[in-house]
Amino acid sequence: MFKVSNDCQGENIEVVRITENEVIIHYEHRENTRDDSWPYWAFHADGLPSREITFRFSDGSVDASGAYRYDDEVVGPFGPAVSFNGVDWEWLGAESAPDHKAFKYANKDGHERVYFFMYLGYRPQNLELFINKHKNNPLFNTSVLTVSEKGADVPLFEIGKSEAKYHFLLTSRHHSGETVGSYVLEGFLEYLLKGGGFVAEHFMAHVVPFVDYDGVVCGDPGNTRLPHNHNRDYIDEPVYASVRAIKALADKYEISVALDFHCPVKWGGTEDTACAMKHDLKKTEGADVYWAIMREKYGARNERGQIPIIHDLGYPAYNTVDATRAMCSGYMHFVKGVSLAIATETPFYGTPSTFTVTPENLRLLGQRYAQGLDEYCRLFVPLRMWMIGERNTIPRYTGITKPEIDFSCMEV
Ligand SMILES: [Zn+2]
Repeated sequence: MFKVSNDCQGENIEVVRITENEVIIHYEHRENTRDDSWPYWAFHADGLPSREITFRFSDGSVDASGAYRYDDEVVGPFGPAVSFNGVDWEWLGAESAPDHKAFKYANKDGHERVYFFMYLGYRPQNLELFINKHKNNPLFNTSVLTVSEKGADVPLFEIGKSEAKYHFLLTSRHHSGETVGSYVLEGFLEYLLKGGGFVAEHFMAHVVPFVDYDGVVCGDPGNTRLPHNHNRDYIDEPVYASVRAIKALADKYEISVALDFHCPVKWGGTEDTACAMKHDLKKTEGADVYWAIMREKYGARNERGQIPIIHDLGYPAYNTVDATRAMCSGYMHFVKGVSLAIATETPFYGTPSTFTVTPENLRLLGQRYAQGLDEYCRLFVPLRMWMIGERNTIPRYTGITKPEIDFSCMEV
């Protein structure tokens, strides 16, 4: 008989019942609220037979006739993501899960272990591979941000030249289940690690790839964590060690840019596009300019297979001080005065008629974000230097000697 388990990192499932041809499962809420709007599941199975097995999602409750209820729509438009090594993921296919409440899998190739994930998985093993790939790059430095609530070292990367004058902050997995944001971050970092751009030359990037490290390791849903999730913890006395440490970083360095990589809820509507929740009080520089560069130049709207950037704003309700100052991007903008502070939202799936999210196009999206930031910084760093009287330090190769712009309306 085959075995279904959740004992690998990042996994989350409870088996309700196993029969010869069917497994009934549901995801665990852990120490979260019982809010079902942010589902997350991942598990592996050993010794699956070559015949078709149905994996059916249920909350475990029964209806009046005593039958299990199967009303959890938690399998995406391309079926589950599958992996045979726990690191490389691909979609099983839409035909495996026509009603989003179950999927079917036949282990025709006799894999000893098969991993299944609601999204494209990205677990600590993926990050270790990334670190190993780049550990000899002189621009890459790894250290420990802090120790998590469960006693783990939370990784911190510094990318750039130690003498860099400007600093920016890159974060992902404030919501531990938002795996896809990690691929975007990888692509962004790989662009920086190539060196040579304006940003690599003048900026030091402080990077926290897993803000909710314990949640990533344990496979917690994250968004519904109690008393609040990590991206609502930028308050006077944060509950989480990693948020306290990120706030200390923002006190230590004058951060010019803060990008926080997220993903939306499941699929459908604006959840299927790349967008940003951005804050821009000054209206003359910062998020509006950066996002305009992204949308107009790196939007990839007509590039087949790429994730397009169409919308400005994912969640208008969050574009106020009160709604966002406890969030990373809101705190950085409204409290620390970072002119460009954005939370990006990257779709988990795409749609059958537009594009399919893959590790490759996610990394390319991250690279596009980095290219756009390079242009943004090329434009605005010299302007800011000029305005604060550091004209002699303007890098010559930008070609900007005198700003052709009326910036009397700008605050410095
Ligand atoms: Zn999020």
